[in-house]
Amino acid sequence: MRDTELYRHLLGLVAPWQVSRVELSVADGRVDVWAQHPRRTRFACPECERKLAVYDHSEERAWRHLDSCGFLTYLHAGPPRVDCPDHGVLQVRLPWAEPNSRFTMVFQRLAIDVLTECDVTGAARLLHLSWDEAWHVMDRAVARGLAAKAQVAPARIGVDEKSAGRGQDYITVVSDLDRGTVDYLVDERRQASLDSYFDRFTAEQRAGIEAVAMDMWEPYINSARANLEDADEKIVFDRYHLMKYLTTAVDTVRKQENRALAAGGDKRLAGSKYLWLYSAENLPARHVDRFARLRAGDLKTARAWAIKESLRHFWAYQRRGWAAKHFKRWYFWATHSRLQPVIDAARTLKRHEAGLLSYFAHRISNAGAEGLNSRIQAIRVSARGYRNREHFKTAIYFHLGGLQLYPQTGSSSRTVGSG
Ligand SMILES: [Zn+2]
Repeated sequence: MRDTELYRHLLGLVAPWQVSRVELSVADGRVDVWAQHPRRTRFACPECERKLAVYDHSEERAWRHLDSCGFLTYLHAGPPRVDCPDHGVLQVRLPWAEPNSRFTMVFQRLAIDVLTECDVTGAARLLHLSWDEAWHVMDRAVARGLAAKAQVAPARIGVDEKSAGRGQDYITVVSDLDRGTVDYLVDERRQASLDSYFDRFTAEQRAGIEAVAMDMWEPYINSARANLEDADEKIVFDRYHLMKYLTTAVDTVRKQENRALAAGGDKRLAGSKYLWLYSAENLPARHVDRFARLRAGDLKTARAWAIKESLRHFWAYQRRGWAAKHFKRWYFWATHSRLQPVIDAARTLKRHEAGLLSYFAHRISNAGAEGLNSRIQAIRVSARGYRNREHFKTAIYFHLGGLQLYPQTGSSSRTVGSG
């Protein structure tokens, strides 16, 4: 078999494309393959599909393709142009590559697979690409996926803020709680940020949103109220976020009390910070004895902790009515504790009571079965090299967006020419 024929098969080129020449450079570790079409081949206008004679050829270009036995492999061709009476002079579609791409579609598929498994630096190394090239593949894949994505409002969404860099640099993350995917990302965490999500849908589509898990963050609350009917029945405040208010209150009580005790030489609370932050069942065994002694004493911190732990039972109720009763008793206890940080936290929760009780209609939280939060955090950690917020967002969409990332190449992944 001649090498041109061999490469026509390897590349899966289909008529009218043929391989005209193959060059192997052992020194450079690369194979260059030239594709050509017969004279008088007619090509379709990319706009209207009308078959037209070749007008001329654009300058020869090269596309990176899958390696041949460890040799970097490049496909070369001069893309034909047609002169359509309706659409003017245009470059025809090439079966092996998307317009303006430097990679064949099969190479992109491989690169996407590798990027799915590695961070960008690792993928670039394995694929013999520069960091920018690997990044470019990811960026294009996400753009392609977002463009192809059906515009459907998920029934149950989670809204969360994520720090995108240092300081006050936030993005808003809207997730589809049922699919376990990130549905939408937008800069900042203002009302307008979340509004921009709802704006993408028609009123009818928005009506399909049944429940929204979120933090007690006024801009998000205001946005949901402005965009959803009966929003207060649909907003469910995230239980982990609610518990954080109490955990913080316990910690404030401990700090104040420790300071007062230490002034009189009592070191009981010194170094106990983390003991109070565990939920009871997660306390490491080595701390159990000390913590039991601390709780048994007449410490204010112990009282604050007991109030915090009692709130956790709220979410364990089967029925809303029982949970409402529990909350009422709990609120009375918390507000009569004479512990100001606990009283403040309880009042904040009370003001948002509807969004606590709505949990029993929807039973959702931002924690999600898919662990989106920890996966976003992992992307953030591996994203030190992403350098900026746009890259961070692209990486989240790439890994967690549930998008169709591959270029459409037809049925066989080895076939270059069937698209
Ligand atoms: Zn046309």
